[in-house]
Amino acid sequence: MAAVEQVGASGWYILGQEVAAFEEDLARYCGSGFAVGCGNGMDALEIALRISGIGPGDRVLTTPLSAFPTTLGILRAGAEPVFCDVDDHGLMDPAAAEFALQTIDGIRAVIPVHLYGNLADLDALGTLAHSAGAVLIEDAAQAIGAQRFGAQVGGATVQHPQKNIACFSFYPTKNLGAVGDGGALILPDELSARAARAIRNYGQTTRYVHDVIGMNSRLDELHASTMRKAFLPRLDFWLARRRSIARRYLNGITTKHITLLPGPDSQGGGWHLFPVLVEAARRDDFLAYLEANGVQAGVHYPILISEQKAIRDCGVPRIVGDLAHARHFCESEVSLPIHPYLRDDEIDYIIQTVQKWGA
Ligand SMILES: *Cc1c(COP(=O)(O)O)cnc(C)c1O
Repeated sequence: MAAVEQVGASGWYILGQEVAAFEEDLARYCGSGFAVGCGNGMDALEIALRISGIGPGDRVLTTPLSAFPTTLGILRAGAEPVFCDVDDHGLMDPAAAEFALQTIDGIRAVIPVHLYGNLADLDALGTLAHSAGAVLIEDAAQAIGAQRFGAQVGGATVQHPQKNIACFSFYPTKNLGAVGDGGALILPDELSARAARAIRNYGQTTRYVHDVIGMNSRLDELHASTMRKAFLPRLDFWLARRRSIARRYLNGITTKHITLLPGPDSQGGGWHLFPVLVEAARRDDFLAYLEANGVQAGVHYPILISEQKAIRDCGVPRIVGDLAHARHFCESEVSLPIHPYLRDDEIDYIIQTVQKWGA
């Protein structure tokens, strides 16, 4: 509330000192690079593509198992999405990505999604992308602060000589949320940060000078201030709590009807969601059972992006392989509640309820 008061009293609401200070803190938190705030996570992806010179006539490799805005960002940039399959964690499969890069021309960017808060294999995907002359853009909307055996989201810029870009969303339910919409990019150098700053603000390089066709996608001072002063300082505490809840679930849920998904690095995962798999034919029953017992659950995601009407209406989407793993997640995944302020007795109740299903 102090942050809200202060911004209110300052009379400066868009692109001021609070945004600049938040960008510095965010880059420091990620351990590398330059942060640029913007309007939302989808715009961050579009801006990342556009500063990489990717647009009409270019293809972008991504995953069909994600929130729709991953692909929408690609389409908004004017590029064509190409979909490849995921692995057993629901993350872009490096083998499928390699095959796509070998067989399809014109792929100039690879956008893996750190789904559920788990990091995709940035080493493998980064190497593949760069040897094919493509940029790697991490859709890190669900994974701020997450790690995979020491590799840090958005930190790929220092750990690898390649130049990666990471995109965050501050939608209120994300691990770091604003009090409204917000997003950011982590960029490897000052030059690309300057390009992103221009695009987010009408393509303006200096006042009233427009060198590129930009957009209006700015982070508000109010969001920057509340995140910098109240939320970012609590992020590590929240992540620790998410990880401890995940550990309780992973230890406590033992029923044979549920397949747990600890992810590639359960200690380092961001645990934005707690996904499990159930038999596809019984998923509706499981969801109804949870609801009847007062446990709110979700499905991430019920429809492959490549099968959405909006995408099919653009023509037959380019797909590599049969997307069998991604399809399996669509049919079988259920997300159990995970949130830093869930109480221990609530977690115990959820575990007991899940254990009793089908018993
Ligand atoms: C939330 C989300 C986005 C979009 O973020 P917005 O801020 O809502 O635009 C993109 N990708 C993934 C994986 C997300 O979860």
